[in-house]
Amino acid sequence: MATQTHLLLSSTFTSRRSLQTPPQSPPPKQPKPSITCAARLSGRSLRVAVIGGGPAGSSAAAALAAGGVETYLIERSPAGAKPCGGAIPLCMLEEFDIPSALVDRSVRKMRIISPSNLTVDFGSKTLKPHEHIPMLRREVLDTFLRSRAQSNGANLISALVTRLDVPSDDDDPYVVTYISGNTKHTLPVDVVVGADGANSRVARAIGAGEYSCAIAFQERIRLPEHEMEAYEDLAEMYVGSDVSPDFYGWVFPKCDHVAVGTGTASAKSKIKLFQSGIKKRVRDKIRGGVVIKVEAHPIPEHPRPRRVVGRAALVGDAAGYVTKCAGEGIYFAAKSGRMCGDAIVRASEGGREMVGEEELKMGYLKEWDEMYRGMFRFMDGLQRVFYGSDWGREALVEMCGDEYVQRMTFESYLYKKMVRGSGWEDLKMGWNTLGSLVRARIIEGV
Ligand SMILES: Cc1cc2nc3c(=O)[nH]c(=O)nc-3n(C[C@H](O)[C@H](O)[C@H](O)COP(=O)(O)OP(=O)(O)OC[C@H]3O[C@@H](n4cnc5c(N)ncnc54)[C@H](O)[C@@H]3O)c2cc1C
Repeated sequence: MATQTHLLLSSTFTSRRSLQTPPQSPPPKQPKPSITCAARLSGRSLRVAVIGGGPAGSSAAAALAAGGVETYLIERSPAGAKPCGGAIPLCMLEEFDIPSALVDRSVRKMRIISPSNLTVDFGSKTLKPHEHIPMLRREVLDTFLRSRAQSNGANLISALVTRLDVPSDDDDPYVVTYISGNTKHTLPVDVVVGADGANSRVARAIGAGEYSCAIAFQERIRLPEHEMEAYEDLAEMYVGSDVSPDFYGWVFPKCDHVAVGTGTASAKSKIKLFQSGIKKRVRDKIRGGVVIKVEAHPIPEHPRPRRVVGRAALVGDAAGYVTKCAGEGIYFAAKSGRMCGDAIVRASEGGREMVGEEELKMGYLKEWDEMYRGMFRFMDGLQRVFYGSDWGREALVEMCGDEYVQRMTFESYLYKKMVRGSGWEDLKMGWNTLGSLVRARIIEGV
C-alpha cells in the first residue's frame, strides 16, 4: 500500500515523521502554550476533518463548510445503510430543511402494548392535523445530508479512517490516516470532529473514556400488501420482559416493509431470544412476511466521560447522545454536529483563527449541556421507573391512555422542548401515575 499525504495539505504542515525526528541539540524548555489559542492563521483557512458521515458528521460538515472552514468529511461507506428505525421528530424536517419527499411514512397512530396486551392508541386523538412522526430510511436521509454538506463546500472522502495521531504539541496538526481505494493517505488537520458512531475510533485515539452500550437488533420484513396496509401510518411499541428486560420492541413502517426489532443493555447475549419474543407478539400481523435484512448495532447509554479533548470534539453517538427510554439519537446527532460545527466557526472567526479546547468546551459542550442535560436525565429516570418490571410497564401503558400525558409527550418529542405543563394537570398526572403504579402492582400480584 502506498502512503500519500493529502495533496491539498501536504505543503502546509510538517509531516508526523519529521516531527518524530530528534533535534540535533535539545531545545530549551518552553512553557506549554495555552489551550485557548486564538492565533491567526496566515494565508490559509482552518482545516477540520469530520470522521463519519452519518447525521452527526454531515451536519457538522455542513455548518463548518458554510462558515468558511476547510472541511473534510470522511465516510467509510457512503452507500451503506445504518441499522436504524428511522423515526425522527417533526421539528427536524424544518430545522434541517429535509424535503418531505424523503419521508417514507407519516405516522399518526402510535400504539403501545403492555405485557398483558393492554393496548393504547397514542396520538390519533391528540395529534394536531399537521402533526406526525416522519419515518425515513437511513440510506436516504444520510445521503441527502452528506450531499448538503458537499454543496456547502465540504470535501467528501469515501474512505475508512484507520488511525488518528494526536499531536503532543498544541501547534502541531492531528494526522488522520485513511484508506481509499487500496491506498493509504494521511491528512494533517487543525481540528477533528469525531462523528464515527458508537464504536468511535476517534474517541479511543483522544482518550475520551468508555461508555456502556445497549444492543439493538432489527429485521426488515416485507409484508403482503394487505398486512402492509395496516401499517400505513401506524407504528407499534411492545413492552414486556418477553421482548426486552429494559427497553421496548418495535414495529416501524417503511416504504415497502416494516422494521421489527428490540434492544437491551442488561441481557445482550439474549437479544435473539427477545427478537423471537417481539416476533411472537406480532405473529399474526407479519404472517406471510419475508425477511429482507437482519441488522444489529450498539446504542450508547450515556455520554462519554470526555467529549472534547484538545482540539478534538465528539458528536452524535460517538459522544453518547441517545436518550434512554426512547432510544432516540438521529435528531441529537444532527443537532450536536451542527452545534459543534457552529462553535468552531464562531471560535475561528469564519476559519481565520486557530481554535483551542476551551473554546470548544464553552461554545459547544456548555451550550449542549444547558439545552439537553435535563431532558436526558428525565428520560433516564422514566426508563428506571417504567421499564424495570412488568408492573412498571403495565403502569406506563395505562398512563399513556391519558390525553394530557399524550399531549405532553408529543409536545416534547415532536418539538424537542421540555414542556412546561399546567400546574393542576401536572398534579392530576402525578396522582394518576401513582394510581397506575399501585394498580399495576396489584394486577401483577393477582
Ligand atoms: C437498530 C437501531 C434502531 C434505531 N432506531 C432509531 C430511531 O428510530 N430513531 C432515532 O432517532 N434513533 C434511532 N437509533 C439511534 C440512531 O441510529 C443513532 O443515534 C444515530 O444514527 C447516530 O448518528 P451518528 O451520525 O452519530 O452515528 P452513525 O449514524 O452511527 O454514523 C456514523 C458514521 O461513521 C462512519 N464511520 C464509522 N467509523 C468510521 C471510520 N473509521 N472511517 C470512516 N467512517 C466511519 C459509519 O460508516 C457511519 O456512517 C437506532 C439505533 C439502532 C441501532
